[in-house]
Amino acid sequence: MGLLDHLIVRTLPLVPKPIVARLSRPYIAGASLADAISCVKRLNNEGFCATLDLLGEFVTSFDQVDQSYQGYLETLQAIDEHTLDSNISIKPTFFGLLLDDKKCSDTLEKLLIETVKFGNFMRLDMEDTPCTSLTIQMYERFRAQYGQNVGVVLQAYLRRTISDITGVTDNGESNFRLCKGIYVESEEHAFKGYQEIRDNYVTGLTAMFDKNAYVGIATHDDFLIEAAEKIIEQRGMKTDQYEFQMLLGVRENVRNRLRDAGHKVRIYVPYGADWYGYSTRRLKENPALAGTFFKAIFFNR
Ligand SMILES: Cc1cc2nc3c(=O)[nH]c(=O)nc-3n(C[C@H](O)[C@H](O)[C@H](O)COP(=O)(O)OP(=O)(O)OC[C@H]3O[C@@H](n4cnc5c(N)ncnc54)[C@H](O)[C@@H]3O)c2cc1C
Repeated sequence: MGLLDHLIVRTLPLVPKPIVARLSRPYIAGASLADAISCVKRLNNEGFCATLDLLGEFVTSFDQVDQSYQGYLETLQAIDEHTLDSNISIKPTFFGLLLDDKKCSDTLEKLLIETVKFGNFMRLDMEDTPCTSLTIQMYERFRAQYGQNVGVVLQAYLRRTISDITGVTDNGESNFRLCKGIYVESEEHAFKGYQEIRDNYVTGLTAMFDKNAYVGIATHDDFLIEAAEKIIEQRGMKTDQYEFQMLLGVRENVRNRLRDAGHKVRIYVPYGADWYGYSTRRLKENPALAGTFFKAIFFNR
């Protein structure tokens, strides 16, 4: 994490909101559901599927949780109405995970029942370590009742992930997204070395495939994408056993190459009124992203 990254994050509050809006435009579909729908339509026409993330997290009251529920319900309805190829991704803290995990689980279960009615799929995003066990337990409970309409995310930077893969796959058919992990974690919990995290990613991916799990391979890292492609080819895997996943606006040349090579590619599409909070929170949480953000904007990389 460089000096420039810290500088960008420190000076962020001084940057006028319209400029932040312009800078974050490639990465966020817009403030409204209509913006999200037109973005997904465009992606679908280009041969990508999507997952919609209604922005917001760390709610402080259960009134806000009701709004999260309503927001996602409208999203499911709109996906259905416009016959879009998109599922939904959810941050459990947006449903009050750290306020009251039982209430959070009840509300998410209500939403999952709607998801199943629409024949859709709900992905539980993974947040920081206070959420890890709670989110995995919720996933396992939902999976036991609603089968393959729900999946969870595991993070390659966590030391516990390989044992989580064993635990989760031993308990039933599993659907994972595997990512590196975006939160700042202590060395006690997380690997810190760049290559160390990559190595754990490849070990995790192999372990997931060994257990016949469906995997969303979520990364923009050429090293990992190439390693995954090699494993997929060696094992003769079919496109109903995995997909690649990338964030909206990131490394579009790579996502086009993967699509053209015949892989399924899902784009993570954040949208919602909380776009400003989301962008600034992400950058403050992980200043290393600021440099990437800056480079992408000013050097078109
Ligand atoms: C679909 C998807 C879902 C995710 N869900 C979660 C989740 O639930 N929980 C969680 O903790 N993390 C999640 N992440 C974030 C993930 O953990 C990583 O922090 C992020 O993807 C960067 O890691 P990387 O594998 O792309 O490798 P990196 O080494 O970080 O990136 C490789 C290259 O990709 C480019 N790049 C990467 N990210 C960006 C960016 N944001 N903007 C511009 N360029 C970029 C840069 O050129 C960089 O050099 C998700 C990521 C994706 C793609």
